[in-house]
Amino acid sequence: MISQERAERIARAHACIGCKEYTYRKITVRSAMQSLREEFGEEWHASLICGVCGVHQELGIDGDGDVIYAA
Ligand SMILES: [Zn+2]
Repeated sequence: MISQERAERIARAHACIGCKEYTYRKITVRSAMQSLREEFGEEWHASLICGVCGVHQELGIDGDGDVIYAA
């Protein structure tokens, strides 16, 4: 499983779903909830606020460091 630091770097390298930029005002990475672990194999859950368009986005990151969803 990847570290929280690595998960944060992966989140930071993910383009904003609103404007496709990579400038984030705020990134929070925490352990995925048990239900999301079981349903999606999610290990880390990232919440990002875009510094360009201000959209709030949620990312699920699995144990291999792949982004499994972005919403
Ligand atoms: Zn944006």
